Amino acid sequence: RKNVLEVKDLHVSFHTYNGEVQAVRGVSFEVKNGETVAIVGESGCGKSVTSQSIMRLIPQPPGVIKHGEILFEGNDLTKLPEKKMEEMRGKEIAMIFQDPMTSLNPTMTVGKQIMEGLIKHQKLGKAEARQKALEMLRLVGIPSPDSRINQYPHQFSGGMRQRAMIAIALSCAPKLLIADEPTTALDVTIQAQILHLMNDLKEKMDTSIILITHDLGVVAETADRVVVMYAGKVVETGTVEEIFYKPRHPYTWGLMGSMPRLNLSRDTELSPILGTPPNLLTPPKGCPFASRCEHAMQVCKEHMPETTNSSDSHQVACWLEHPMAKPVDIPHDVVGG
Ligand code: SF4
Ligand code: MG
Repeated sequence: RKNVLEVKDLHVSFHTYNGEVQAVRGVSFEVKNGETVAIVGESGCGKSVTSQSIMRLIPQPPGVIKHGEILFEGNDLTKLPEKKMEEMRGKEIAMIFQDPMTSLNPTMTVGKQIMEGLIKHQKLGKAEARQKALEMLRLVGIPSPDSRINQYPHQFSGGMRQRAMIAIALSCAPKLLIADEPTTALDVTIQAQILHLMNDLKEKMDTSIILITHDLGVVAETADRVVVMYAGKVVETGTVEEIFYKPRHPYTWGLMGSMPRLNLSRDTELSPILGTPPNLLTPPKGCPFASRCEHAMQVCKEHMPETTNSSDSHQVACWLEHPMAKPVDIPHDVVGG
């Protein structure tokens, strides 16, 4: 399968009163045709900044893409004139957010909002666009589309607004959909329905998805591959199986250990990772996880770990992977328990 997106050595900073916050520090990953890649990590790890950079939606200033390439079907989006980028958004690359109210227009009917993109990008006539909008509402499972199409977002429930946003995002059949915490605000049942819907539409339309989330349950449901980010860097990438059953980075072990499992009773305590991520105004020169890592060695504090291949699809940035490092027992019992 071909890559629809390749992010190469992306660096993004924000200039603040206190100095330069290095939010994204050399991130690389790719997304293949029809694949769902989840980017996971705690808040502030750079996952949203990465996705906003792909859409070129980081506010510049104070944000700036300092270095790197974002190749969409071979074209570097960082070099695209804003006008071209605008055509790209919605047509080729679409985005859905946690809170539909921030992207839905409260003064326009849901139907008009779906039609807008179809008229602009697909050059459909009004009647045709309306037909297509009805079809999209039906496809995302909104009941009685004929009356719903004329309603405003506030007349929709939270779950229906999320569906409407997905209908807008997918109406022009984008090649890439970026979903930033798309189900975080929804209750568990609706969340499952929305994830199912996204999977379904991905299959039907052959869309690739970048899913940004801190929720590993959502990842297990939806993703093909996982990119684990920490302190603006990718610390581990692999298939869902590799990340869930054979994680190799101590931070990923911590994430897995703090994941609620179905068989846990409600009052079972999860083990959160102790400590806080480093301040990205003054990132450490060595491994960014060193201050929280039980396995940290002297080399970790002084040198950034190199990325090594654990398999063709599995990369880890940790000195424990280095043949010279002292062997540790990989706590396989943190997962699958
Ligand atoms: Fe821990 Fe060292 Fe690996 Fe960083 S490089 S995760 S500090 S063992
Ligand atoms: Mg975020």
